[in-house]
Amino acid sequence: MRTYDVTLTITPDSIVWPGDQPVNIVRTSSITAGDTSNVSEISMSCHTGTHVDAPDHFLNNGITVEDLSLDLLVGRAYVLYLPDVSVITASVLIDADIPPRTRRLLFKTRNSENWANGNREFQTDFVALSVDAAELLVDRNVKLVGIDYLSIAPYNMGVPVHTILLTAGVVVIEGLDLSKVSQGRYTMHCLPMKLVGVEGAPARAILVGV
Ligand SMILES: [Zn+2]
Repeated sequence: MRTYDVTLTITPDSIVWPGDQPVNIVRTSSITAGDTSNVSEISMSCHTGTHVDAPDHFLNNGITVEDLSLDLLVGRAYVLYLPDVSVITASVLIDADIPPRTRRLLFKTRNSENWANGNREFQTDFVALSVDAAELLVDRNVKLVGIDYLSIAPYNMGVPVHTILLTAGVVVIEGLDLSKVSQGRYTMHCLPMKLVGVEGAPARAILVGV
């Protein structure tokens, strides 16, 4: 068994959603400067890097991140590799080789090449789910979806796809780096920070598999 870290590294250079503040990490106490210890502070959007969306992100007064079920965030997951699609539609999913009863589904797309290449420009043409794909996943009782860019929904079309998924209680993981994993079955551990009353949180995500 191997452990794959599918988490983006958070750095001051991290790509952020257009309009979000860049990541800021400052050392507020420094041994070099004569302090007894090193201490840092960070400021960033809760949707920076690899992160989880809770229902409250698009459903006002929805469940916030500290109340997400760990039973969904930990368990068997399937990585589906879709190298040649620009939008993940229902028909793409119907034609794809998804094992029956898959409850956690992670999409590896050409988006992951951006992480492998160290591309520092935000891409607006990233691969994401269409509305009919989101509806199909809910119908199939998928309970967690993950994508390898910063939104599960196409750029400038965030509301319907997020709303369909979050209304159905589907946990959404965004910003996965799946460049080093192949299509197949894994055990996933995705643990968002336990922030109270917040609509999303950065997470460490790993996959364990062969
Ligand atoms: Zn998000």
